[in-house]
Order: sequence, then structure tokens, then C-alpha cells
Amino acid sequence: MRIGLGYDVHRLEVGYPLILGGVAIPFAKGLVGHSDADVLSHALMDALLGALGEGDIGGKFPDKDPSLRGISSLLLLERVMEIVRKRGYGVHNVDAVLIAQAPRLAPHYRAMREKLAPILGLDPARVSIKATTTEGLGFPGRGEGIAAQVVVLLHRPLSKPAEPVNE
Ligand code: MG
Repeated sequence: MRIGLGYDVHRLEVGYPLILGGVAIPFAKGLVGHSDADVLSHALMDALLGALGEGDIGGKFPDKDPSLRGISSLLLLERVMEIVRKRGYGVHNVDAVLIAQAPRLAPHYRAMREKLAPILGLDPARVSIKATTTEGLGFPGRGEGIAAQVVVLLHRPLSKPAEPVNE
């Protein structure tokens, strides 16, 4: 087994869409970035690459690459999963925390899990997503940005099916 940790932050500004875990969330502001700035998917990819010792998404998908402008981070996640599979690993489970003062994210957990799980080759029950505010403290508390932290566990061999998990 291999464990990986990912962390990412993007700035919140008026006039941008808010995409988290591939889900468009209605809000007055959105995240700014070279791709769709999906901070959750970015932290997830860094966790996957970290588990493999394969660096980070900045190295795999440089923000100077014009072909990646505005690209859905889910497409990048698919590319990262190709690397995971090529290395002979599967994902065992994911645990993620979004750090945001607003909007309220709990109503969107299910949609995010259902979006990410099939790309990871998992049942949504193995993709945990939750969120916290920072009680008004720091950049997330001031609404200047959203952060995400993700841990993943990879396992091999792929041929051995994982036992089902009850929620
Ligand atoms: Mg990022």
C-alpha cells in the first residue's frame, strides 16, 4: 500500500465559476486558475501523485501549457489515474476536506463523490468529502480563497478486488 497527501489553494473572485470535485456550485464568486481551478480535484491529483512518488500536478501539467487553459480538472484526473494504473496500483479510498467559509458545501458532497468515484474506479462510499469553515480566520475565513486537503490510499495488485465498504 502507498499513502499520499495533497493540498491546494485557489483564490476566490467575482466573475468565475465555482467548480469543486467536478461539480458547478452556485455562488457569487468562483476560483481563479489556469485550468477550471477545481481545488479539490487538484489536491486529489497531488495526493495520487504523491503516493506514487511522482511529484505533483505542476510538474505533470505546467500552467504555461496553453492546451490546458480552462480544461476540466476531471480530464487531468483521468490522466493521473492512467499513471496510477500503469504503475500497477488501484485506489483503496479517499478522504478530503474542503476549507471554505462559504458557500455551504454539504448539499453538494453527494454530487462530488458521484463525479469523482467512477474516475477513481471506486464506489462513492469510498470517496469521503467533507468541509469546514475556519471560524472566520485567515484567508478562507475572509472569503479570499478555498483550500483542499486530500489523503489517498493506493493498493496493489489490481486483480484482488477490494471488500465492499458499508457507510
Ligand atoms: Mg491548483
